[in-house]
Amino acid sequence: MAWEFCTDPDFQKKLDWMKTFVKEEIEPLEVLWPELHHAKPSPWLRPVIDPLKARVKEMGLWATHLGPELGGKGFGQVKLALMNEILGAYNWAPTIFGVQGPDTGNAEVLAHYGTEEQKAKYLQPLLEGELFSTFSMTEPQAGADPSYLKTRAVRDGDEWVINGEKFFASNASNAAFIVLLAITDPDVKVTKGASMFLVPTDTPGFEILRQTCVMGGEHDMDTEACTHPHVRFDNVRVPAENLIGAPGEGFLIAQTRLSGGRIHHAMRTIAICQRALDMMCERALSRSSFGSLISEKQTVQQAIADSYAEIQQFRLYVLYTAWQIDQAKEYNSNIRRDIALCKTFAYKLHRDVVERAVHIHGALGCSNEMPLGRMWMEAPTQGVMDGPYEVHQATASRIILRDYRPSPGLWPTEWLPGKVEEASKKHAKALAEQAEYERIHGRKR
Ligand SMILES: Cc1cc2nc3c(=O)[nH]c(=O)nc-3n(C[C@H](O)[C@H](O)[C@H](O)COP(=O)(O)OP(=O)(O)OC[C@H]3O[C@@H](n4cnc5c(N)ncnc54)[C@H](O)[C@@H]3O)c2cc1C
Repeated sequence: MAWEFCTDPDFQKKLDWMKTFVKEEIEPLEVLWPELHHAKPSPWLRPVIDPLKARVKEMGLWATHLGPELGGKGFGQVKLALMNEILGAYNWAPTIFGVQGPDTGNAEVLAHYGTEEQKAKYLQPLLEGELFSTFSMTEPQAGADPSYLKTRAVRDGDEWVINGEKFFASNASNAAFIVLLAITDPDVKVTKGASMFLVPTDTPGFEILRQTCVMGGEHDMDTEACTHPHVRFDNVRVPAENLIGAPGEGFLIAQTRLSGGRIHHAMRTIAICQRALDMMCERALSRSSFGSLISEKQTVQQAIADSYAEIQQFRLYVLYTAWQIDQAKEYNSNIRRDIALCKTFAYKLHRDVVERAVHIHGALGCSNEMPLGRMWMEAPTQGVMDGPYEVHQATASRIILRDYRPSPGLWPTEWLPGKVEEASKKHAKALAEQAEYERIHGRKR
């Protein structure tokens, strides 16, 4: 029976190599150029990052998110999870390893639903890290509930004409193309009437209205925090072959993409929280207060122990979910339930562990001299992006409830008086003998 919690020794060697490589080679990029990780590199940056990408390729660790069945070189979600729990601590790391979002999710869409032409033109350069992409579904008036979406695509001869506005189109200013969800049939439910398109960002009529920053980024528009623009499509014309999949399949395709993206975020959260715990433990062993190290204070010990246990629980859940995806090779309802809950707990873990690490560092933790402030400000975004956690809880709850039925009568099936009555019927003879025995010998237990 295979039920093991260990990593194949050959792959462990690669993970050990990754840990050192990320610390020695990628951390300096993060410190010096935190805002440049998700853009086509300038000529001066190429001599720094191209050799790093080459080393990753030599190790056979480049763009491993797509498995061989989808035309990639990947080894499946479990190994990707083990990799992401190292890479996720630094924004630059996924880029150097060719597994950065939203490109991984878009690659998954193209691999699953793209035509050979679309794959050659967009997927291949995406996997090679030569271009970046955006996924765009959210609109100013429509987020968690897609029934409020308005962006329309109308067929006109050999072209589709797109009109509408999208919000939080992450990285659109650096992207070569957008994977766009637009309504093609407004007369049916949005889940049946939306379609997915490939829209090159140099198409006439596409416009970035303004950059939107996540919190903390508003003082410097050049930073990574400010790459979530509000965009407009004004009579944007794309050829008919830029439709991905069939008309009306937009939501089916979006779910494939978003499911993958969500579990990858969860994998990266392990890295973020482990990094916060590492900082917390180092500080606890280094800082004294009221005559002893703070590691000797019970509340600090509790913060460390809780954080450690919560990370372990979450990690096992993420790995189990990744394993299920590898087995099923699709996002069935059990997997969608677990991805939804991993997504929910990713946010809570991130919020709780990073908050404790900030707190244990005191004023230093609240300053811009530790990475903790940035990590802390990313916590709320985890709870909102790819859908608010409440919606994921509702999804998971719906799937869980499918395995249950209402109680047949007034009382729950576990109602104890009812259970006693049933058990008494089953053991009526023994109960009668017990009563007779106790009448003669008295009540003994
Ligand atoms: C950093 C970041 C990057 C993003 N990148 C992208 C991107 O690249 N592409 C893209 O398309 N979108 C992107 N988004 C947008 C994201 O997908 C939406 O923010 C998300 O779907 C929620 O939509 P909303 O912001 O409109 O919130 P709303 O739909 O307005 O919801 C607001 C709040 O209402 C509550 N709520 C809503 N519905 C329910 C419910 N059914 N049950 C209980 N409570 C509910 C929740 O508390 C929720 O947080 C990004 C968001 C962030 C923060």
